[in-house]
Amino acid sequence: MVIAVQEKTFLDNSGSIYIMETDLEEISRISKEKGIENWEFRNYLKKYDVPIADTDSIVHKIYHQVSSKIDCTECSNCCRYFYTILNIDDIHNLSESMGISATQFKDRFLQKKNEDNSYILKNSPCPFLNGNLCSQYEFRPEACASFPHLHRADFIFRLSNILNNYSICPIVFNVYEILKTEIWTRTGLPPENTPAPRKLRKKI
Ligand code: SF4
Ligand code: SF4
Repeated sequence: MVIAVQEKTFLDNSGSIYIMETDLEEISRISKEKGIENWEFRNYLKKYDVPIADTDSIVHKIYHQVSSKIDCTECSNCCRYFYTILNIDDIHNLSESMGISATQFKDRFLQKKNEDNSYILKNSPCPFLNGNLCSQYEFRPEACASFPHLHRADFIFRLSNILNNYSICPIVFNVYEILKTEIWTRTGLPPENTPAPRKLRKKI
């Protein structure tokens, strides 16, 4: 499925034209093809001691560019593939909106994640997905409202999760690809012998 977007191309921060990938099947295929490369870039980002705030600021900028062009109601891939985590407040809000007790809600929709108090949905796709829309949008879990979490701080410490989302979410896919172009490929592949990119990153 190809997600309709108003504009697939834009100038990235280096002044190059970037064409966004919005075909979900193609994103899934490319993610397998680029598995090693993506992991190497993750290692590259962790290897050099770049100030976390610098990396976050670059990611936030790219995220804003990409997400402003993608309409999530055309996609909903995250709602189809992930087992959303719910906290106690989420359970309270959703059960109240459905007029059932928290216990009934847990029995019907959730399973325990681990020994702490968090739960995940029993089923995927999410039972609250109606077509491409969330039937509980106003009461959706915090994890859904925050997804794909690229506006948050500490990108560098969340790379494993971000890579898990790369094959599912067109926003994550395109942000990560642009990030590679802007930070990594300009310094050459593979990165072992390239200089620490602190200067390059600050320029960006
Ligand atoms: S609760 Fe709504 S936003 Fe969250 S996964 Fe389900 S359908 Fe998607
Ligand atoms: S957050 Fe990503 S996977 Fe979820 S609907 Fe938006 S573009 Fe699709």
